[in-house]
Amino acid sequence: MSPSTKPAVSVIGLGMMGTALAVAFLRAGHQVTVWNRSAAKTGPLAAQGALPVDTAAEAVAASPLVVVCLSTYDTVRTVLEPLTGRFTGKTLANLTNGTPDQARDLAVWSAKEGADYLDGGIMAVPQMIAGPHAYVFYSGPREVFEAHRETFAALGGTRYVGEEVGLAALYDLALLTGMYGMIMGVMQSYALVRTESIPATDFAELLVPWVGAMLGSAPAWAEAIDSGRHLTDVASLATNQEAFPNLLSTFAAQGVSGELFAPVQGLLDRAIAEGHAADGLSRLADLLGTGPGRGPATESGQGLGT
Ligand code: NDP
Repeated sequence: MSPSTKPAVSVIGLGMMGTALAVAFLRAGHQVTVWNRSAAKTGPLAAQGALPVDTAAEAVAASPLVVVCLSTYDTVRTVLEPLTGRFTGKTLANLTNGTPDQARDLAVWSAKEGADYLDGGIMAVPQMIAGPHAYVFYSGPREVFEAHRETFAALGGTRYVGEEVGLAALYDLALLTGMYGMIMGVMQSYALVRTESIPATDFAELLVPWVGAMLGSAPAWAEAIDSGRHLTDVASLATNQEAFPNLLSTFAAQGVSGELFAPVQGLLDRAIAEGHAADGLSRLADLLGTGPGRGPATESGQGLGT
C-alpha cells in the first residue's frame, strides 16, 4: 500500500468521541497516531491502521495537527501541561466540550508554547461522526483553520465561526441552551399530564407538532431581536404575564414542581414593570442578555500552566 499523501493527524483521547474521530481520520486516508490514558482503547484502532503510542508526548511529536478530545478542559490541562516545550510549530485543535473562557485560556497557553490553536465544538454524537448530519464549529485564526479544513472535513461539516477563539464554544453552548430549554418544557408537560394518568406516549402525539409549530416562530423572533422592533400582533407580554399564573397554580394544585417555571413569572413581571407590555416574547432576549457587543472577557489570568 502506498503511503498516504494526506497530512498526518494525532488524536489524544480515545473515549467514545475521540475513537469516532480517529476512525473517521483513518477512513479518510490519514496516518493517525493515537494516545489514550487507558492503553487498551488503542487496540481496535491499531487493528484499523492507527499507530498507538505510549505517551501523549509521542502523539504530539508524530503529527503537525494534534486533535484533543478528552472529558473536560481540566483533563486537557492535566494531559497537556506536562508537555510544555513540545508544541512548537504544531497546531492544537481541541474539540473537548468547554466554555469560551476555557478556550481562551488554552489559546493563551498554546501561544506561549509556540503552537497555533483552534477550538472546536462537536455537534454530533459519536455514531454520527463523518455522516451527513455531523458538523463541528471551529474558531481561531482563519488561516490556521483553512490550512486544516480538508483534514477536518473527514469528521463531517466544518463550520468556521470566527477568529475570536471562544466563539466555537459559545455557538455550541447556545445550541445546547435551546435544546435544554425545549427538553425541560417537554419534561414539565409530561409531568403534568401524568398527574391525571394520561400516558406520556399519548400526549406526545399532541406535544410534538405543537412544539414544532411554536419553534416555527423562532426566525420571526430573531428578526425582531436583531431589528429591535418587538411590537407584536400575536400575543403580547401583558397577555402572557396574565396567563402564566394559571400554569404555576396548576402545577401546585396537581403536585408538580414549579421550580423550572417560577423564574419565568419573575421575568414576565419585570418586562411589564419596565414598560414592555405591548411587546412580543422576543423582548425577553433583550431582558435576559446585555445585548450585542459585550464581547469576550479580556485577560482571564487563569492561563494554562501559569
Ligand atoms: P468519554 O467519557 O467516553 O471519554 C473521556 C476521555 O477522557 C477518555 O479518553 C478518558 O480516558 C479521558 N480522560 C478522562 N479523565 C482523564 C484523565 N484524568 N487523564 C487522562 N485522560 C482522561 O467521553 P466522550 O469521548 O464521549 O467525550 C469527550 C468529549 O467530547 C467531551 O468533552 C464531550 O462533552 C464531547 N462530546 C461528546 C459527545 C458524545 O455524544 N459522546 C457529543 C459532543 C461532544 P480513559 O479512556 O483512560 O478513561
